[in-house]
Amino acid sequence: MKIIVTGGAGFIGSHVVDEYVQAGHNVVVIDNLLTGSRKNLNPRAKFYDANIRDRAVVDRIFKKERPEVVSHLAAIAEVIKSIRDPMPTLQTNVLGIVNLCLAFGAHGRGGAQRKFIFSSTGGAMYGAPRKLPATEKEDTITLSPYGLSKHLGEEVLKFYARQYNFPYFIFRYANVYGPRQSPKGEAGVIAIFGGLMKAGARPIIFGDGTKARDYVYVGDVARANLLALRRGKNDVVNIGTGKLVTDRAIFDAVARASGFKGKPIYKPYRKGELYKISLDARKAGRVLGWKPTMKFEEGVRTTVAAL
Ligand code: NAD
Repeated sequence: MKIIVTGGAGFIGSHVVDEYVQAGHNVVVIDNLLTGSRKNLNPRAKFYDANIRDRAVVDRIFKKERPEVVSHLAAIAEVIKSIRDPMPTLQTNVLGIVNLCLAFGAHGRGGAQRKFIFSSTGGAMYGAPRKLPATEKEDTITLSPYGLSKHLGEEVLKFYARQYNFPYFIFRYANVYGPRQSPKGEAGVIAIFGGLMKAGARPIIFGDGTKARDYVYVGDVARANLLALRRGKNDVVNIGTGKLVTDRAIFDAVARASGFKGKPIYKPYRKGELYKISLDARKAGRVLGWKPTMKFEEGVRTTVAAL
């Protein structure tokens, strides 16, 4: 299959590209290298250094490539940055998907394999649910412009899928971690802690260490993207482990993996961040036959070793 992966030079996107290439697909990457890197690019994928905000450029690429599938991961994916300066996040994450839908509707190849797969968020979609792990039925209450942009992205996709009659599939990820995650971002706490500890520096914990998230390994996420080529239609599924891991537990696991002996620095909570979120991904099991397989400690060791 011919598959366009947007954000294929980024952390998760590059693993999705590797998985598709490995399975024998013909992969085309669109990425403007804002947070992505040429180092992450699979040499067997064709690369366009292009901005998904540019409608004419996106249209030209789709006209030339005529993909059967789009796996859309390009985004500005930082919560705190989106609160400080919302416009770039909203422009890329909402207008970008409009351009991709228009181009896919006009130039996408037909056939049974046709599909638009969108990487959305679970962590920033459900507000602070009372019942954890949260299912896909949980109300959408976004707490940041980033969450809002992904929610609007989902609505844009559903609208154009109806207009052009192409199948779509939406993933809502928990906190994804693994090799190639940038230790310089604001999220990606395992990579950030690992980078600091390896340099002998003390990581900061915002809050008292009890803030907790659901951490899913990037290899498991890439496998979900592969499964979605054959299964799942016009649906939305969470991708996570259903388990909560506290900041303190992460500090300890990364310290064990890196041999760090120091203590964390504690600072007040940051505005816009959730206290606890975990995702119920049993629907992904039913729809795709997907289950997380990576054990947390082993995933942390692999991530820290790759830094
Ligand atoms: P990332 O920053 O590593 O990847 C995003 C990629 O998009 C980068 O390569 C960047 O250069 C590219 N990009 C940004 N703006 C672009 C533009 N205008 N045109 C073309 N390319 C552009 O982040 P990631 O963690 O790999 O996230 C990938 C996707 O998964 C995002 O859509 C994000 O919202 C979603 N997601 C990530 C997580 C997580 O925990 N990392 C959780 C939920 C959802």
